[in-house]
Formats: sequence, structure tokens, C-alpha cells
Amino acid sequence: MTGTLYLVATPIGNLEDITHRALRILNEVDLIACEDTRHTRKLLDHYQIKTKTTSYHEHNERERAAELSRMIETGASIAIVSDAGTPGISDPCFRLVRACIEQGLRVVPVPGPAAFVAALIASGLPTDEFFFGGFLPARSTARRARLSEVRRLPATLIFYESPHRIAESLADAREILGEREAVVARELTKLHEDIARGRLSELAERFAVEGAARGEMVILIDRTPLGTEATIETAATMSIAERVDALESEGLDQRAALKRVARDLGLPRAEAYRRLVAERARAED
Ligand code: SAM
Repeated sequence: MTGTLYLVATPIGNLEDITHRALRILNEVDLIACEDTRHTRKLLDHYQIKTKTTSYHEHNERERAAELSRMIETGASIAIVSDAGTPGISDPCFRLVRACIEQGLRVVPVPGPAAFVAALIASGLPTDEFFFGGFLPARSTARRARLSEVRRLPATLIFYESPHRIAESLADAREILGEREAVVARELTKLHEDIARGRLSELAERFAVEGAARGEMVILIDRTPLGTEATIETAATMSIAERVDALESEGLDQRAALKRVARDLGLPRAEAYRRLVAERARAED
């Protein structure tokens, strides 16, 4: 008889946010694999759960995934938990899940809190389509490149962020995505829960104030730049030369501007260039 791997969600702050099923499984399994055993012990003590724990974190994931999946193969039932929320969501567990699947072992999700879902439902931004991007890159160049990739997604954009980068990330988002409605959801389910709503530039300013950016936080950004309706209408009637000029005045060089215009209009770059040259020649006549 082989065992089972249970992926158990735990609270993101308020200890009451744990399901009856999660508590039963944490009681019944042979072993609980934790990101930080001391952290999880506090939760287990609160619910008087005596199950043995072992560590499973990003630095020992590879070896542990092999060891734990072997234990499951020989009959052990193991629960994996992260420090907060759902294991596997910006937290380790992926390798263990893959190892178990490859060996044909049973993998059972035990759902519960995830910070991005709690943030999304309370944000007031559309929930019908969303994109969850995990943590934004720490360095500004990579972060901007990431934001450019998702600029056109017709979905609410959601990212995890650390307090010391929040103001910078919001400012980058304002620059790359344009002015948009946004939300910063902090310390969800905890004593100092705070859901700040506003424009990207307003929130960037608010969190740039020393001491304002504290706690754990989620950034959510609306899918459309403010004033997009008008912009789209104007853009529809703009010539290629006008579009290129507008982008150049925003700081892009001609090559980058033309590339963007070609992409926006669904034209090959060479064709966009040919039309640009023709428009400019006509303007000179
Ligand atoms: N596994 C977790 C989940 O299911 O949401 C996420 C773990 S990730 C390492 C930690 C990040 O999640 C934090 O930096 C923050 O962005 C977000 N987060 C976790 N708890 C939060 C809370 N109570 N309020 C707001 N954001 C939270």
C-alpha cells in the first residue's frame, strides 16, 4: 500500500482560517513537511496537533522531494504546508508534487486561504479574469520588462511584493502600464488589515512615505489605463507618423517606437516602416 501526499492550506494571518478537513488531516498524517518547522509548530500547538514535522524549503527541496516521495511510496501519508496560505503558491511544493506524480502516487489538495484570492475578492477590481504573476522581479530593469509583457492582458493584474520595494514597483507600473486604478492589500486577515485603493501614481506616492509600507502586501492593477476609451478613439484616427512621434515624445527611440506601432497595428515592421516613409514624403510635398 502506498501513502498519500496532502497539500494543506493554512492561515495567512488569522488562525481561525483553517478548515476542519485541514485540521483532521494534519492530525492523521505520519509527517508534516513544513517550510519552517518552528513557525508551523505555533499553528499546530494552537490546535493541539502532535504530529511530527520535518523541513521542506527552497534550499533542500530537491533532496527532500526525493526522500519524501520514497516515504510515500512505502506507505507513509505526508502533509505539506507552507508558512502561510497555500503551498505551491509562491512557496515550495512543486518538486514534491512532480516527484509523486512521476511515481504514480496519490496527490490530494486540501484547499484554503491564498493571499492573492483574498486580495482580489476585496479589491473591487474585476474578478472575471485575472493574471497572478507571483513576486515581481527585485531589479527595476527586469521588473519593467515583466510589466511590459503583461501590459496588454485583458485581466486584473496581481503581484506579491515586499514592503521595501512597493513604492518603486508602483512607480514602475505607472510608467509602463500607464495610469490605472490599483489596490494595495496589506496584512489581510490580521489586526492591521488595510486595503488601499487609488491610482497607481497616488499609491506610489502614499507608500513612498517613510513607515507607510509595512507588513505583507499584494498589488492589484486594473486591466485598462484610465481614459483608455478616449485614447483608443484618438489612436484609431492617428497616422503611423503621428503614432511614432507620440511615442518618441514619451522617450522611445524611432526603432522602438516603430516596433511598438507595428505590433499595435498588427503589421510587419518592414511594412510599417514603408508606410511611415510614404506618409512623411507626402507630408513634405
Ligand atoms: N503561499 C502564500 C499564499 O498562498 O498566498 C504566499 C506565500 S509568499 C512567500 C508571501 C507573500 O504573500 C507576501 O510577501 C505577500 O505578498 C503575500 N501575503 C501573504 N500573506 C499575506 C497577507 N496576510 N496579506 C497580504 N499579503 C500576504
